[in-house]
Formats: sequence, C-alpha cells, structure tokens
Amino acid sequence: MLEIRNLVKQYKNYLAVNDLSITIQGGEIVGLLGPNGAGKTTALRCTAGILRPNSGEILINGWDIVTNQGKAKAGLAFVPEVPSLYELLTVEEHLKFVAMCFNTLDQFEVKRDELLERYDLTEKRRDLVATLSKGMKQKLSVACALIHSANVMLFDEPLIGVDPAGAHELKQEIQRAKANGAAILISTHLLDTAEKLCDRVIILNKGSKMVEGTLADLRKFSGMETSSLEEVFLRLTEGEIAATGLSNG
Ligand code: ATP
Repeated sequence: MLEIRNLVKQYKNYLAVNDLSITIQGGEIVGLLGPNGAGKTTALRCTAGILRPNSGEILINGWDIVTNQGKAKAGLAFVPEVPSLYELLTVEEHLKFVAMCFNTLDQFEVKRDELLERYDLTEKRRDLVATLSKGMKQKLSVACALIHSANVMLFDEPLIGVDPAGAHELKQEIQRAKANGAAILISTHLLDTAEKLCDRVIILNKGSKMVEGTLADLRKFSGMETSSLEEVFLRLTEGEIAATGLSNG
C-alpha cells in the first residue's frame, strides 16, 4: 500500500508540489496526469526517496520513505523517466547488481532469463549498457525494477521510447503486478493508455491536485458524460472548471 500525505516540495522559491495526498491500495493502478511542469516527476521522485520533501509523509507499506528508507525501499520499484543505469556494467551484470542491492538473489537466474526474454534483451545480455539503444535502456530499467518483488510500483512515463512490442509487454506486466496485489502509480501523457490501464486518475496542475476519480467521476465532474479521458482532461486543464471536489485520496 502507498500513502502520500500532504506532500509539499519546493525548489528554492518555486512550489512544485503543493499539499498532495494520494492513497493507493494493493491491486490498484492510479494514473498521475497533468500538463508539462505540473509536478508529476517531482512527486514521484519524492515518493521514491530521491528527493526530500519539504513537508508531508510518504509511507510505503507503512514505512516512511524519509525516516525508514531501507524498509520502505525494500517493497518499492521505481522506473524513472530517464533511465539511470551504470553504463560500464553489462546488461546481466546490471540485473545482478540490482538483485544484490535488494538482497534477492534467490531464483535470480530464472527471473533474469525470463525478463531478458520478455524484454527482448537476451541477445544483448553480455553487452555494456553504454552500447544499448534508448529504448533498450528503458526496457532494462523496467527489468531492473521487476527483478525484486516489489508491491509498490512507481512508473514515470514508462512507455516513452519503447517499441510497440515492449509497450504491450509492459502494459501486461503492469496488469500482472496489479493482479498480484501491487499498488501502482503511473505518470503518463498517453491518455488512451491511462484510460484503459488505470482504475482511477489524478490530474495535477501547477503542483496541486485538480481532481481525482474514475473516468466516470471525471466525466460527471466536467459535465462531459460521453467523452474520452483526453477530451475531459483537455477541458479540465483549460481552466474552465474550478479545482474542487471529487478527491478520494
Ligand atoms: P513533464 O510532464 O514535463 O515531465 P512534470 O509534471 O513531471 O512535467 P516536474 O518535472 O515535476 O513536472 O516539474 C515541476 C516544476 O518544477 C517545473 O516548473 C520544473 O521547472 C520545476 N523543477 C523541476 N526540477 C527542478 C529543479 N531541480 N530545480 C528547480 N525547479 C525544478
């Protein structure tokens, strides 16, 4: 379970995330949407323990990411927007390194080979990360997140740069993780994917939560009963509707 309570993150004088609260139960996929600069990456980086919040609390399976980082991170997987990999390791060394960090070498070879196969990296297993294409790096970053058994998963624009087969695999992976009881938060600009994949969505704008709910909730809120998520999103972020109500977080 993931709980973000009243998260505030400021860069010098700029308020990037303002009083954001999100609760995600196991078995739920929540989409974090919003225009460029809305604060999605900042919120995810705080949740992953990479940035320190100015205030608020982030609990991963009940463990505070700031005060109990080791225990919190044990259950957490994070796929960043830009893969952050060690270029001088080979693909399989990288997977092993991550598995060692999480102390999950049990069944490592089986899991490694499955992931390499699933993400089309078997041929590249002994190649240096530095020599991978952009999309291959993104796939390796996903494989690294999946090599240990996390039940809270954060994805920041995971489908950007990944080929259609990889994107299809990743969407199935996310569905499998949900079926296995993971709490999943995904930031994306791909609204048709969010519509299909997410149980509910949160729209951030200028650091604040505008609205949260299922597509049906958002349609009702915007008065666009038969519209797609894209149409509803565009209408809401145009600023025609005041930021009120609908939050269940
Ligand atoms: P995008 O959809 O473009 O990826 P985002 O919703 O992920 O955007 P963030 O990257 O979280 O947005 O940025 C939120 C705001 O914080 C932006 O105005 C950005 O310029 C600012 N910001 C992000 N990182 C820093 C930083 N290190 N120092 C100062 N300002 C920052």
